[in-house]
Amino acid sequence: MGVRGAATAWGRLDWPAASAELPFGDRRAALPPVEGSLLAYGNGRSYGDVGLNPGGTLLKMRGLDRFIAFDADSGVLTCEAGVLLADILALVVPRGWFLAVTPGTRFVTVGGAIANDVHGKNHHAAGSFGDHLLSFELLRSDGARLICSREGNSDWFAATIGGLGLTGVVTQATIRLRRIRGTAMGVHNWRYTGLDEFFALNAAAEQAHEYAVAWIDCLAKTPRGVLMAADHGEGDLPAPHGAKRVPVTPPLSLVNGLSLRAFNAAYYGKSWPAESRQHYLPYFYPLDAIHDWNRIYGKPGFYQYQCVVPPAAARDAIGEMLDAIASSGQGSFLAVLKNFGDRPTPGLLSFPMPGTTLALDFPNHGASTLALFERLDAIVRAAGGRLYAAKDARMPGDFFRAAYPQWQDFSRFVDPKFSSGFWRRVMEQA
Ligand SMILES: Cc1cc2nc3c(=O)[nH]c(=O)nc-3n(C[C@H](O)[C@H](O)[C@H](O)COP(=O)(O)OP(=O)(O)OC[C@H]3O[C@@H](n4cnc5c(N)ncnc54)[C@H](O)[C@@H]3O)c2cc1C
Repeated sequence: MGVRGAATAWGRLDWPAASAELPFGDRRAALPPVEGSLLAYGNGRSYGDVGLNPGGTLLKMRGLDRFIAFDADSGVLTCEAGVLLADILALVVPRGWFLAVTPGTRFVTVGGAIANDVHGKNHHAAGSFGDHLLSFELLRSDGARLICSREGNSDWFAATIGGLGLTGVVTQATIRLRRIRGTAMGVHNWRYTGLDEFFALNAAAEQAHEYAVAWIDCLAKTPRGVLMAADHGEGDLPAPHGAKRVPVTPPLSLVNGLSLRAFNAAYYGKSWPAESRQHYLPYFYPLDAIHDWNRIYGKPGFYQYQCVVPPAAARDAIGEMLDAIASSGQGSFLAVLKNFGDRPTPGLLSFPMPGTTLALDFPNHGASTLALFERLDAIVRAAGGRLYAAKDARMPGDFFRAAYPQWQDFSRFVDPKFSSGFWRRVMEQA
């Protein structure tokens, strides 16, 4: 059972607690001597147990929150690994710079962004977070400090990007930013009906725009949704202010078949301007405007299912998955469809690969939800796809090992003192 106030994962499932949680706030200090295993804990924005260490020790990294150097001419920034992407944006946007890659929340740490090699709405144009990482320091449990980059310790560099926190602790990192000319984004929206229309519109949008992502109504009989593409624009717009908060956790999920159908119909039908200018916050981080939104799924918590399937199989596999989801009546309004580009990933275990990624949240209804995931797994496996560890709480170990064949090579880099709930789960019976 979880301990009140203890580190949690974003899906709020009831994970067993760590035996200890220790702050780690001095990048020059050695790792604390502990019995059992260690794992760095960033800001808890991973959905399942990739950032948890039931029965072991969690090192809480948010104390490593200092900026070390920023060159406003070249856009190269060095900071400690517990710095949030939100803090980086606050520093660099007024100086004409932006993150080269950002996930859908800015409340993640630099260490967490490296460990999951996170991707954003511009994967087709810019690759993943690791593609813009110049170097970092990796602290191992034997006291070794490895400066890792493409030029030095490059094997450790590749193992630690997307390395799920298992190669040691990243204490600081240097990243390359991208230029912007203001806070404004130029946004284009298209409604689509059917997957063929999505793929056609999306191919054109990716040619023309840096960012492209689609919302999809997962319960509609014929898949439908809205494709949103954007580029950084010129000039500043005021930031929307006043984030809201979900104040309590209801006993049961507020997301159910009825509320979902009503929401999806209203969302699809709302007015979507073909072209508009927006501040970057609502385009990149719509969910950050509601703190603790993960509470709406109530005490049982929720799962996210995020897969990627290769291009040749994508159309049919996504269609089959949507059919399975619609007929189960499960799912949520948080459903995203996007194409990954084909640049090789920088990390041994990085999630992105050429193809289409589908991500959906599901309230935790126990056995019926898990049964649906087994059906989805079968479709993803047959299509040669894989699931994202950052979002996972239940994928079978043999699926992980088949989908990430580099795991054996990667295992050589795992620090003998480090482990996680996720790693023990997927390595069982390996
Ligand atoms: C609303 C929302 C939207 C999201 N959108 C996206 C998206 O668009 N794209 C995407 O890729 N992801 C997305 N995510 C997932 C999120 O970006 C990742 O899970 C990210 O890794 C979380 O970072 P964190 O700092 O919270 O780390 P945690 O979740 O606490 O930990 C994640 C991993 O990082 C490791 N770690 C943390 N700090 C260090 C360190 N200093 N050294 C070594 N290892 C470390 C942990 O051990 C763990 O393995 C989203 C999550 C949410 C909640």
